[in-house]
Amino acid sequence: MKRILVLGAGGFIGSHLVTRLKNNGHHVVGVDLKYPEFSETQADEFVIGDLRDPNVCEAVIKDEIDEIYQLAADMGGAGYLFTGENDFNVMHNSALINLNVSHFAIQSKVERVFFSSSACIYPQFNQTDPNNPNCEESSAYPADPDSEYGWEKIFSERLYHAASRNYDLNVRIARFHNIYGPEGTWNSGKEKAPAALCRKVAMAKQEDTIEIWGDGTQTRSFLYIDDCIDGILALMGSDCTEVLNIGSEEMVTINRLAEMIASHADKSILLNHIDGPIGVMGRNSENSLVMKSIGWSPKVSLSEGLLKTYQWIDSEVVKLKVSHN
Ligand code: NAD
Repeated sequence: MKRILVLGAGGFIGSHLVTRLKNNGHHVVGVDLKYPEFSETQADEFVIGDLRDPNVCEAVIKDEIDEIYQLAADMGGAGYLFTGENDFNVMHNSALINLNVSHFAIQSKVERVFFSSSACIYPQFNQTDPNNPNCEESSAYPADPDSEYGWEKIFSERLYHAASRNYDLNVRIARFHNIYGPEGTWNSGKEKAPAALCRKVAMAKQEDTIEIWGDGTQTRSFLYIDDCIDGILALMGSDCTEVLNIGSEEMVTINRLAEMIASHADKSILLNHIDGPIGVMGRNSENSLVMKSIGWSPKVSLSEGLLKTYQWIDSEVVKLKVSHN
């Protein structure tokens, strides 16, 4: 049994990670500004605290902690990250968190730190062709992310690497590619495409029209939450200190994503393409290195994962309707 600190334990990935770590028999301490929104935390202890505050970091990053999973960030979907309106907060808040966490991790006797980076660090010039994006780990430089969120992540990757070089901090870093699944935010303004489209389809009647940002030909891949947690644990349990993609290679257009969800809902849905923040035209995970280095690859197909996610969001929509009546 290890003593594990999960930062961002009230968020989507953090709350699922806490549950898995508890199921695996560890003692888990969670920290976040808020408790998980959709189910009770399984953490043994849960600290409500702001990790931008060094005093909070100092109080939770103690010598007896074996591992830290650093997932806390000011983040959201395209509607949050790509409009430009949240740029300062996204950079400032997440950078402060990582500056504090890395500093106190160096001071402590923590054995290993996991940092969640993002596919958003990859250069936009490699992601203009929807059919042929390049997101190989080695393509990160020269850096040219398409958002300030990506720039903060690339800064923090470098920060943790510097901590590792200069202070022997034992660090593992993954670049997540669009993680989705039940108990992720779906109507807060921070939701990502799969959750937003599941909500739109769940709220639609037969033959209704739903809105899609852009022309829907932009491509992405989406990784189911259980596969993401498997990937995090495989990386943390390995000796691999290279930054690795944790994503799916099952690339689809946003139009296709909407069609798959409508088909799971058994609804005939029309798409209305409107202007909106869309990000790069193509993005897909490239899993050769992660496969070779830690033997991880996703197990859940997009169709299977979307079905579970749609069913959960549909039940949330029903609950919301009942509470409004
Ligand atoms: P999330 O927003 O659900 O979780 C992040 C959590 O961090 C939230 O609960 C938030 O309250 C907490 N947090 C923010 N500021 C804080 C602060 N100052 N002090 C304490 N807690 C704070 O996001 P998520 O989807 O669970 O993502 C987890 C991590 O993975 C993030 O670092 C994110 O950037 C990264 N990531 C996620 C995805 C994805 O598709 N979900 C993709 C790439 C990278």
